[in-house]
Amino acid sequence: MKKKEITIGIIFGVLSYLLYIGYDLTPLVILGLLGYFLYVISRKRGLLNLANHQKVIENINFSFEDIGGLDTPKQELKEALEFLIKSSLVYKMGIRPIKGILLTGPPGTGKTLLAKAAAGYSDAVFISTSGSEFIEMYAGVGAQRVRNLFQKAREMARIQKKHRAIIFIDEIEVLGGKRGNNTSHLEYDQTLNQLLVEMDGMSTETDVQLLLIAATNRPDLLDSAILRPGRFDRQVKVDFPDKESRLAILQLHCLNKPLDKNADLAEIAATTYGFSGAHLENVANEAAILALREKGSVIKQVHLREAVDKVILGEKLSDRFKNAETLHRVAVHETGHALISETLNPGSVDQITVTSRGNALGYVRHTQKEEQSLYTKSALDKEIMILLAGALSEELFLGERSTGAANDFQQAMELVQQIVSTGLSRLGVISLELLPEKEFYYVCQEIIRELENQTRKVLQGKDILLLRVVEVLKSKEKISGREFRQILSKHGNHEETRTA
Ligand code: ATP
Repeated sequence: MKKKEITIGIIFGVLSYLLYIGYDLTPLVILGLLGYFLYVISRKRGLLNLANHQKVIENINFSFEDIGGLDTPKQELKEALEFLIKSSLVYKMGIRPIKGILLTGPPGTGKTLLAKAAAGYSDAVFISTSGSEFIEMYAGVGAQRVRNLFQKAREMARIQKKHRAIIFIDEIEVLGGKRGNNTSHLEYDQTLNQLLVEMDGMSTETDVQLLLIAATNRPDLLDSAILRPGRFDRQVKVDFPDKESRLAILQLHCLNKPLDKNADLAEIAATTYGFSGAHLENVANEAAILALREKGSVIKQVHLREAVDKVILGEKLSDRFKNAETLHRVAVHETGHALISETLNPGSVDQITVTSRGNALGYVRHTQKEEQSLYTKSALDKEIMILLAGALSEELFLGERSTGAANDFQQAMELVQQIVSTGLSRLGVISLELLPEKEFYYVCQEIIRELENQTRKVLQGKDILLLRVVEVLKSKEKISGREFRQILSKHGNHEETRTA
């Protein structure tokens, strides 16, 4: 600040003197205005403002305990951080320091949180930025920004009297993508080269130990130079959370919310397979909003369940059903799915609804018993039959199908293709490249036809039962799996007697 005032004072003094001796200041004033104009423009374009987009957190108050689940990534990260914390020992032993840790995984799974917790754990200054912040059309700007980033990290640590600084770069694939692939590749390559130079310059002998943590959803796009030993040689995979992790995340995000004593977060965790941490945070948030909308003082299980539906399918649309005919068709369709699901996997229906949300006019929610990484042929067959049952139910009980099954068919075809490509079809083990397209198509069709026939057989003769469920569904909009099973056991027996 002082420097600035002295400079302004000197300029003012010189100008006054020139005026006093009768010098014409017009050219100087024009030149000054032009310079100022150029300065403002370049600031706007970020040319001079090289470090503006970085978020610096000097004293991070965030720990691994603030992250739900993710035990394996946490453990791996802690192990790597020991090298940073015990850097003098690492130096004495002649061990190469860890310079970069790469966190890979789908969006919203907690990579940024892990990087923050790493800074808290190792008592480091935390600077976070994103790969896209380095990309400019002007050659050299990105490289300059990389230099500034490392410099700033060291400076901030010194100011804070800390010995460590963690630089977090999100979307590293933008900055560290394979070289030579971009149209303005000179600028991209220069920026990446600068990052590699800075990483090579990191050592344990300085007063501030630096660690680079980067995150990406697309590790396949990264340049191999960035992944070689001595650079980002530690990779930590951060996947979608499993059931226990989901429960832990939900519990964390409900800590500051008034939860009803009967609310069962374990049930919500069991039915949210494939949700990321960000989705689960959203479920807790939406549930609180729903409770507030109903002027309730606590979040109940119904709110949590409704929030899950909202996160999966979108906002409820109230006036989509203009006519009773469509409502009836949707109810028949969904009941078809539910009947087959319950027949093939007893206890699998969690809820049936004809409320439209997002793009879905109705849907059946299934209970998720356990997560699977392998599927047998019969398990895939069952999945396909459940998907086909909606359209077949319309065909059998309403006389014709509608366009409402397009999404079901698409999913069913994907599963059929999986059967063929994994060697589970009548063709046995095949190579997709060598199999003629026509042959592939015929085998897929054959499987679909066969499963359609099987599904039809299960549905046939169940009209009274189906209509009973449809009536309840139309009047109540949704029925729980338990209610559905009650109707089945009450009316199913009559049906069996009738068809016998
Ligand atoms: P992206 O790849 O899109 O940058 P990310 O993996 O970095 O995503 P984060 O930004 O770390 O994801 O997480 C987003 C939000 O999701 C967090 O602010 C938090 O609310 C929630 N979240 C994700 N994972 C967890 C977790 N394990 N525990 C608690 N909250 C979580």
